[in-house]
Amino acid sequence: MDRMQIVEVRDWSRSANNNPIALFKSSPEPKNPIILIGGVHGDEPEGVWLAEFTFEWLKRNTVKLPWILIPCLNPDGYAACTRGNGHGVDLNRNYPSRDWSPHFEKPRYNSGPSAGSEPEVQALVQLIQDCKPCLLIHFHSWQPCIVCTGEPGLLAGRALADSSGYELKNDIGYPTPGSLSGYGWYDNKIPVICVEEAEGCARENVWPHFKHGIEKIFSGALK
Ligand SMILES: [Zn+2]
Repeated sequence: MDRMQIVEVRDWSRSANNNPIALFKSSPEPKNPIILIGGVHGDEPEGVWLAEFTFEWLKRNTVKLPWILIPCLNPDGYAACTRGNGHGVDLNRNYPSRDWSPHFEKPRYNSGPSAGSEPEVQALVQLIQDCKPCLLIHFHSWQPCIVCTGEPGLLAGRALADSSGYELKNDIGYPTPGSLSGYGWYDNKIPVICVEEAEGCARENVWPHFKHGIEKIFSGALK
């Protein structure tokens, strides 16, 4: 792809508390893009920073693949430093996947009153249905690892694991009904990569961990 025409949509959608959610993309209508998402969980700033650094890099470099980037899907939680959105719902348990469940063990995993009940999730689901992404990457922080769900995403997952030195896994190790992985891969056959930066990682260390992996993915060499 030649020179990108980056489109900035500052008020792409609205959160539960009516905060704007920004979206940036490589052209007015990218086809089969890579979608990158930060700030799913509001108390994981490392994921927002990584999305922001990735956007800065995408603005400065001509890349071969179309992309859409949402720096912070959960502005309510990010402002309040809470995992859930303004309704207290864990967005990564609210996707309308076949395995969505109204039952959750701890309040932090509140899956919402119904599958896909939350405006942030509804907006992303609509986006996925409209643009048919080739890969979904969402940025979190916890115990550092890269979780790849769906074999077509493995090379990209490996690139991010090699870049960071974090372990590449095919499962996070505990059940996550209603997650993006379930909705993306098991229901729609779109591979999903969950990046877990180390919780508490200093802001200046986040981009060095993933720069090479992001570069490799966007070089198109993995397709
Ligand atoms: Zn998270």
